[in-house]
Amino acid sequence: MTCVRTRRHVQVVQLLVCIGALATVSRGADYGKVTTSKVAEGVYLFTTSPYGDVGFGGNAVAIITDEGVVMFDTSGTPDTGQTILSEVRKLTDKPVVYVINSHWHWDHWGGNQVFKAAFPNVQFLSHAKNRDLMMNVALAWNAPGLEKDLPDYINYQKQQLATAEAKHVSEAELAKKRDLLAADESFLQQKRSVTYIFPEVTFSDSATLYLGGREIRVLHARAITPGDTYVYLPKEKILITGDILVNPIPFAVGGSYPQEWIETLQKLNQLEIDAIIPGHGEAERDGSYLQRNLKLFQRVLADVKTAKTNGSNPDQTKKALMNKAGDYAADLGLSEKDLPDFKNFFLLVFVNRAYHELEKPLGDSPVS
Ligand SMILES: [Zn+2]
Repeated sequence: MTCVRTRRHVQVVQLLVCIGALATVSRGADYGKVTTSKVAEGVYLFTTSPYGDVGFGGNAVAIITDEGVVMFDTSGTPDTGQTILSEVRKLTDKPVVYVINSHWHWDHWGGNQVFKAAFPNVQFLSHAKNRDLMMNVALAWNAPGLEKDLPDYINYQKQQLATAEAKHVSEAELAKKRDLLAADESFLQQKRSVTYIFPEVTFSDSATLYLGGREIRVLHARAITPGDTYVYLPKEKILITGDILVNPIPFAVGGSYPQEWIETLQKLNQLEIDAIIPGHGEAERDGSYLQRNLKLFQRVLADVKTAKTNGSNPDQTKKALMNKAGDYAADLGLSEKDLPDFKNFFLLVFVNRAYHELEKPLGDSPVS
């Protein structure tokens, strides 16, 4: 079953800052499933399948060294964090010594508490601005979704299920609806069980961890959020981007700074790359996806500038550029079925932010 794409659902998703890498999930057993893949010697990626149709978990990465493990993000919920930790323990008996948090969107740090409980000496590290946003923006941003929108959506699903049962639809259809409802309820319960763990160590420009023979560069960008924290391993030529890159559909909800996002991609494009691990989706083995994102962003920004110069207001600009969505999506190799997500999670927000950024600098608040 593909994810629900009603207006109502999109609102729930946006409030919770869920993610645009919408995957197709066919069986209940696949909801919130963690998959481990080896990217390079001692570098592992943990992807998480969608939690029902209301939430998504960001990628987590383990960098294993002789002196301990560095985690990059912990995915969206404590349960998922626990599964990822169990996977890490199968790979090494070294303790986790650092957890790097990429940005404030909940789907990347909901598992922090699990690592804190298992390794009391672990250090949580992120950019200073990101710590501030995690502490002062994330909770308030997610509250309406957790307190009202998601419970309302679950009630709506229950009614739909009751209607389907009364109509005697096929048992297979009913089973799918029940699985989905159970997954969404479980997700809400997990989100409500989060104990927020914030970074204790921050940096302002960059930081480098020298650990067990590895050099782990921790860097800052202002791309999707003001405190984006990403990692580059120069020896292994591995780039770990957080949501600066999302595979296959870029994600601009919950902030985004179009001009600096483009500058960041230009900078990342200069790096030597053997693998790129995005914030969602599979790792890439070269820079081609990054370059396609860069070209698309530049194209959309140029079109926004032209529309504004020609006197279009924000609504007229959005309307005109939405008509070109199919064209833009094709730049990323996306198909017709990806268009609703491409528009809702990327294009609409990017165009809006780009237009306002041309008028005045955007502030750190995601709704500035
Ligand atoms: Zn994300």
